[in-house]
Amino acid sequence: MNIPFSPPFIDDTIIDEVVDSLKSGWITTGPKVKALEEEIKKFSKAKEVLCVNSWTSGAIMMLKWLGVKEGDEVIVPAYTYSATALAVIHSGAKPVMVDICEDFNISVKAIKNAITKKTKAIVPVDIAGFPCDYEEIMQLVTSEEIKALFVPTSDIQKKAGRILVINDAAHSLGAFYKQGIPTGSETDIAIFSLHAVKNVTTAEGGAICLNLPVPFDNKELYTYLRQMSLNCQTKDAFSKSKAGGWRYDITGLGMKINMADVNAAIGLAQIRQYPLLLAERKRIFNTYNNAFKQLSWAIAPPSLENGKESSYHLYALRINDITEIQRDAIIDEISKRGVSVNVHFIPMPMLSFFKEQGYNIKDYPQAYKNYSCEISLPIYPQLQEEEVKFVIDTVKEAYQTIIKF
Ligand SMILES: *Cc1c(COP(=O)(O)O)cnc(C)c1O
Repeated sequence: MNIPFSPPFIDDTIIDEVVDSLKSGWITTGPKVKALEEEIKKFSKAKEVLCVNSWTSGAIMMLKWLGVKEGDEVIVPAYTYSATALAVIHSGAKPVMVDICEDFNISVKAIKNAITKKTKAIVPVDIAGFPCDYEEIMQLVTSEEIKALFVPTSDIQKKAGRILVINDAAHSLGAFYKQGIPTGSETDIAIFSLHAVKNVTTAEGGAICLNLPVPFDNKELYTYLRQMSLNCQTKDAFSKSKAGGWRYDITGLGMKINMADVNAAIGLAQIRQYPLLLAERKRIFNTYNNAFKQLSWAIAPPSLENGKESSYHLYALRINDITEIQRDAIIDEISKRGVSVNVHFIPMPMLSFFKEQGYNIKDYPQAYKNYSCEISLPIYPQLQEEEVKFVIDTVKEAYQTIIKF
């Protein structure tokens, strides 16, 4: 049996929606993007949603909007996909990496210890789709003690009056932070990724959720950011294409990161059936859980705890008492048998670019611990029950081959 890691979910409804865009005479930003934004708004309960061409570009734009610059600091977890920190570097600020908890997510205590007068934002990441402790994080940034430290250096920062929380929700569309509170609505800003391997995809894409507190006006901000994502041009191509709509202005230095309608079409057809697709992911997650929870050497990932519910984006299995070398050998054994697995994630301080800048994995013991024994198993709606069983048997065999007992 050959089991790929994460093929995209493409059925006829998706193909039809893309063909509809291609035949409509309008393929870039237009009605399909707008419709996708409305669907994501319903799912996330965010006040406003703006679609762009990736999580990364959306995060850079939001940090630029916040006015961060050289000398400023943005707190991120050491354990994430590198885009989280790369976006901060692109915006001109310094990513301050902190350690995680046993559940893979950023440690609130570590955040508190890392806050300085230079801190302008915190970017917690919902690893594998399991939400972070947002109540604690929001309490921290709104506390008098932490607000007193805040030194605003832009008009937006003055208006905010405190550190902003930008959730890297790349994995967590459809997750619940608390009963009835979906991710996307629980922080000032949250950004979903719609990249090809994510739960809902537009091939490449991102969705920025806006929930800023007063005195911000999220509707007004949506209009502003939409322009900012289109080179700060006062009219998009759709309005310019109408008779008499030719004149426009450029009001500032924007970015060119808008999403195209052909891309939005894929996501639109997917998100309409997302409740079903999510249920399928949960089914597979639970089949894995039932198998691995019985084994003393396996650690099942968190999914349902303290009112939180995961979006079941990854199945991050961990194996007790093994070294990084043994983990790598187990992966080789699994691969030999035709099952594609992955590691989420190599902590950023272990990657060349970040090492060169002085980050050291020794400062992040929990991140290293989780990384060194982690193997991500395939999880997606197309997986059949017998394939899931095959993955489970393969993992057990691989473990027994390497760790003889
Ligand atoms: C995928 C991912 C991103 C980047 O998303 P893009 O849309 O590819 O830019 C950011 N953060 C995390 C945690 C991710 O997994």
